[in-house]
Amino acid sequence: MTKIVKVGVIGAGQMGAGIAQVCASSGYDVLLNDQTAERVHAGIKSVAMNFDRRIKSGKATEEQKVAALGKIKSAPDLAAFKDCDLVIEAATEKEAVKKQILENVAAHLKPDCIIGTNTSSLSITRLAASTGRPEKFMGIHFMNPVPMMELVELIRGIATNEAVFQQVNEFVGSLGKTIAVSEDFPAFIVNRILLPMINEAIYTLYEGVGSVEAIDKAMKLGAHHPMGPLELADFIGLDTCLSIMQVLHEGLSDSKYRPCPLLVKYVEAGWLGRKVKRGFYDYSGETPVPTR
Ligand code: NAD
Repeated sequence: MTKIVKVGVIGAGQMGAGIAQVCASSGYDVLLNDQTAERVHAGIKSVAMNFDRRIKSGKATEEQKVAALGKIKSAPDLAAFKDCDLVIEAATEKEAVKKQILENVAAHLKPDCIIGTNTSSLSITRLAASTGRPEKFMGIHFMNPVPMMELVELIRGIATNEAVFQQVNEFVGSLGKTIAVSEDFPAFIVNRILLPMINEAIYTLYEGVGSVEAIDKAMKLGAHHPMGPLELADFIGLDTCLSIMQVLHEGLSDSKYRPCPLLVKYVEAGWLGRKVKRGFYDYSGETPVPTR
């Protein structure tokens, strides 16, 4: 096994940028890829802004910001991944998109490069089949926001090599994260439990049981959740929430996972939550305003 020195991250959205940030902060060289150079640039900018917030609150220093940003290089062309030791795929939660990416990137990688996917719900074994190296492939599921959340779920596919699993386990430990191991079932552990709760909150809104404000307040003050479920759905991204519910619904063939029609409608409208400034709340002003 080669030592992990260089990490390639595919997808420079909220998760990919966060993963790039924690890897760079732990001393790894990072290559960041997305569909366009502009998107990679936006991802790197969001890392800088995240550092600025952390510096303001005394959780990071200017030196740490400069050191981490110095370790992240833009790589809009996957050919640049040729000497990566580990690649983490963190693109849009769509099976066809991920399979295509995995097939494309695998062609550029050295034979012993490990590939991990940050998928929230999709079958690791099915994705592994697109890599040509299923024994070096597994789920490395970071939580959002990556720099803050302690947990990473690790998921073996049917073919994952034990030495690969152990090396990834050590790598995740080197980022200061704690692991929980999940079997390869739809949405793994955290999202198997969390997403049906969020979907139920959307049904509660859809059926008129409560307003956006009432539902979020009820769960914050009544169940001591740090965020209300609708606020959390906006934070995750409503497209990602819908994809996860669809994977649960199809993968477990149980009607209790039926995505709420209101969630479908919001996604069809392009109201994907915080990342587009509109979801169950409108984020264009100083404070979020409920959209229903
Ligand atoms: P996002 O929409 O913020 O970012 C996705 C990025 O992938 C976009 O920048 C998009 O341009 C890029 N992308 C799409 N197709 C691509 C391609 N062919 N090549 C390169 N880049 C491509 O989404 P996100 O929230 O960062 O989610 C990314 C992954 O992480 C998903 O699999 C999601 O399920 C998972 N995840 C999300 C969360 C969350 O709370 N949002 C938490 C854990 C895991």
